[in-house]
Amino acid sequence: LPRDIYGQQRPNSRGPNIDIHCEWAPFSAKVSAWLEHQWLGGPIINGTRIDSGNIQTVKAPYDHRHHTGQVHFADAELVAQAIQVAHDGFADWQATPVGIRTQALMRLGDLLEEHLAELVALCHQEAGKTIQDSIDEVREAVDFCRYYALGANELFSAPLKRTLADGNSHAMMRNGRGVFVCISPWNFPLAIFLGQVTAALAAGNTVVAKPAEQTSLIACRAVELMLEAGVPATAIQLLPGRGAEVGTPLTSDPRIAGVAFTGSTETARLINRTLASRDCAPVPLIAETGGQNAMIVDSTSLPEQVIQDAVQSAFASAGQRCSALRVICVQKDIADRVIDLLKGAMAELKTGNPCLHSTDVGPVIDTGAQQGLLSYIDHMNAQATLLAQTPLHTESEQGTFVPPTAFEIDSIERLGREQFGPIMHLVRYDARDLDALIDQINRCGYGLTLGIHTRNEGTAAHIESRARVGNTYINRNQVGATVGVQPFGGQGLSGTGPKAGGPHYLLRFTRLQPITSTF
Ligand code: GLU
Repeated sequence: LPRDIYGQQRPNSRGPNIDIHCEWAPFSAKVSAWLEHQWLGGPIINGTRIDSGNIQTVKAPYDHRHHTGQVHFADAELVAQAIQVAHDGFADWQATPVGIRTQALMRLGDLLEEHLAELVALCHQEAGKTIQDSIDEVREAVDFCRYYALGANELFSAPLKRTLADGNSHAMMRNGRGVFVCISPWNFPLAIFLGQVTAALAAGNTVVAKPAEQTSLIACRAVELMLEAGVPATAIQLLPGRGAEVGTPLTSDPRIAGVAFTGSTETARLINRTLASRDCAPVPLIAETGGQNAMIVDSTSLPEQVIQDAVQSAFASAGQRCSALRVICVQKDIADRVIDLLKGAMAELKTGNPCLHSTDVGPVIDTGAQQGLLSYIDHMNAQATLLAQTPLHTESEQGTFVPPTAFEIDSIERLGREQFGPIMHLVRYDARDLDALIDQINRCGYGLTLGIHTRNEGTAAHIESRARVGNTYINRNQVGATVGVQPFGGQGLSGTGPKAGGPHYLLRFTRLQPITSTF
């Protein structure tokens, strides 16, 4: 049967009558043709790609013998140039009618769909994402373009008018803040990159974007498409490079008007400190950071469904989502049954080359991540009970693979830092201790996603009201928030909000300017 590559229609795509569906076999052939392509990337300043000479070879995370392309990294001098161009371009972009700004972003959504096969191939090659993850990645990027474009039209097209019997007229305008810095992660190298950038642009800011150093090529393609879509060359600048060489000078610069960041809690703190140490006006930081996410499973739940959702939440994307499940808390009465099913499910998972249909779990992003995760597994082997570990495939030593692994621990308090990979923990709890368990989860300090499995609506409501988290998922998996429907983001160590893909996100990129006049 012909297969629809999108599976299901997303609420913010334009509808099933628009041709974003296509048949699987010809699409797959197109992706394969792109797998041999060598991409070239680098800083893009004022519409020109710069060869800085600081060249990095990009190797596919699943097989380091395969070179994906090359990227030129920026340095502090290019940072200064990029900020100046964005600074000079702000007045024009801010003065551009919202409808024109957002037209370019809608066109970008269309272009992303037109380049789907290339972008999917690049997601495999640069980020090690599986077929499903790569398609979801592009789809989410498209959703962000359209969601923020439509949102900006709604919010910013006309001033808000208010009346007061004082003979004056009162209007509120929403304006961009200036140069917004967008610092994005490698785990959603297109979707989060474009989510931040399109929101900032739609709100009237010019943007200097620093993608994660591991995934610069796809960011570079996205900016090329953005320019093709009609975003002016002065409105978007791209600076691939390392944190110390690009991120620090960017966030230290007095000309910037705000920062949107997704990544680790430590880096968010560093950005905060850098912003605070500037001798100039304070600016907002929107930070979306990590999680130590739990799923609470009571004895009324359906173990088969629990396992399907837990495995998906913990091991899809090789666990490299900040929403991913890190600790499943199972009521004692059904714990043995759940563990049996978990062992069975993990024995069925396939690790391997993400370009293959049969692969469930691809590589982790790089050697640093791999080594950190493997040494955590070693450490836990001595501290906890190993429940299950999926064997790696035969060619795994060519890339950065980590075996999906589950440990049983005796208390949530044993969890330390977030482990950003395919490692799940399990704790048993007694029904009488449910509140204490929720309090322990809260005490971790993070608050991103929470899964609940129960058939008792009262229990679900009780857990949901006591837990301090960003996004709650009941009787389903807890990853893959849909733009516009499940605004995504946490509290505490998990981030500042406002939630990405939600109704308040765009507003944070603007200044509200009330104007009272009388003539
Ligand atoms: N929005 C993604 C999800 O719901 C996670 C984003 C992230 O990992 O930064 O799974």
